[in-house]
Amino acid sequence: MAAAAIPDVELSDAGRIDPSQQTDCCIVGGGPGGMMLGLLLARRGVKVTVLEAHKDFDREFRGDTLHPSILEILDQIGLTEGVHRLSQNKIYGPTLQTSGRAFSPVDFRRLNTRFPYILLVPQAKFLEFLAAEARKYPSFRLRMLANVTGLIQGEDGVQGVRYQSTDGWHEIRARLTIGADGRFSKIRQLASFEPIKTSPPMDILWFRLPHLPGDEHSDRVRGGFGGGRLLAVFDRGDYWQIAYAIPKGQYQQVRAAGMESLQKSIVEIEPTFAEHVESLVDWHQCSLLSVESNRCPVWHKPGLLLIGDAAHVMSPVGGVGINYAVQDAVVAANVLTFPLLHREVQEHDLAEVQRQREWPTRIIQKLQSLVQSRLIASALQNESNMIVPWWLRLSFKIPILRDIPGRILAFGIKRVRLEEP
Ligand SMILES: Cc1cc2nc3c(=O)[nH]c(=O)nc-3n(C[C@H](O)[C@H](O)[C@H](O)COP(=O)(O)OP(=O)(O)OC[C@H]3O[C@@H](n4cnc5c(N)ncnc54)[C@H](O)[C@@H]3O)c2cc1C
Repeated sequence: MAAAAIPDVELSDAGRIDPSQQTDCCIVGGGPGGMMLGLLLARRGVKVTVLEAHKDFDREFRGDTLHPSILEILDQIGLTEGVHRLSQNKIYGPTLQTSGRAFSPVDFRRLNTRFPYILLVPQAKFLEFLAAEARKYPSFRLRMLANVTGLIQGEDGVQGVRYQSTDGWHEIRARLTIGADGRFSKIRQLASFEPIKTSPPMDILWFRLPHLPGDEHSDRVRGGFGGGRLLAVFDRGDYWQIAYAIPKGQYQQVRAAGMESLQKSIVEIEPTFAEHVESLVDWHQCSLLSVESNRCPVWHKPGLLLIGDAAHVMSPVGGVGINYAVQDAVVAANVLTFPLLHREVQEHDLAEVQRQREWPTRIIQKLQSLVQSRLIASALQNESNMIVPWWLRLSFKIPILRDIPGRILAFGIKRVRLEEP
């Protein structure tokens, strides 16, 4: 995404810049947060333009979980059938293999919802689906290959953005600009928002293993520990998606130990993968995710709001990043549609979005941090297997307590609904 900064003097050069484009809301970033907000605003008649730096939605390095909360929101706008046509791949909860015993702390089937499962939809397909729906509304525009590099700053605050496309530099003027441009947010940097960082104790290698004839399909995420490593296995239908957690900063050591050592370690944790790991032959098959978690103390300034990963990068524990980005988008649509349609957007409107979304974010980040420090860090430091304390196993058998973690995973700390005007 690195692009040369454009000096202001070039922007006033009429030969190089197209005439200013106008919109009510300019959303930077066509990820789950940005696309969902674009769709929700457009269906209410707000003029909205989404700018996405890439040429398509296809990326290797993406999550693909649609939690019950997202499915309920899609249901509210009549899109659940459509999204279920994209995939039938469902997960009902995680199962941890600890010291030879299976521990299944969460069963979504006990939750009070029409969609008691996580639907696994490749993120590219999900985003294409949202884009196709949004395009049905005349007030919606999506520009791909639009790499935003600057904010247009006016007397009253941010008034739009500058972006580079294949045909040169452009600017778009907007009453409200949304930074939904993910964990490395350019908008966050341009607006000088400084996130507070926490450093989870792990990094993750992300790779695929083939589904072999005879493999049974699994409707649970399987997790296992061993030799100071943690393995999470997701069934993607025609392949297994693997997240292999290592202590932070140890990637070079893992590489130096060699591919055979990685294969051996995987099989130690998951013996059924003895044949599968033979397909791992090159480090290019593994992406390294440097795990990070952060949140901005302030998400807004006049004319500008951050949502999703741009405002708060979630740790991978529980896989809630997409859920939280989409929930931010729903709250932003609830709060901002009226001002966008009928009056100026005031900074207190933007503050209201942060007020509703910040505390659920902080609580879940605190919980993730507890899981990381109490369970994951010790499993990664400890060569022996992880032991789930008896009292924890017991608490998941007590009816009044046992569904709380499932509800938090499914809906976040606060169940978010779309408010129809
Ligand atoms: C390997 C991996 C696995 C993950 N697995 C899961 C999972 O299983 N479940 C889960 O819930 N979450 C998962 N996550 C996290 C999840 O993907 C994010 O939390 C979520 O995508 C955040 O959505 P977003 O819309 O805020 O940002 P993003 O999805 O990051 O989207 C931001 C968009 O902005 C675009 N952009 C960036 N800069 C610019 C610019 N200057 N101009 C224009 N466009 C720009 C990017 O191209 C991108 O499309 C995973 C993340 C990773 C890296």
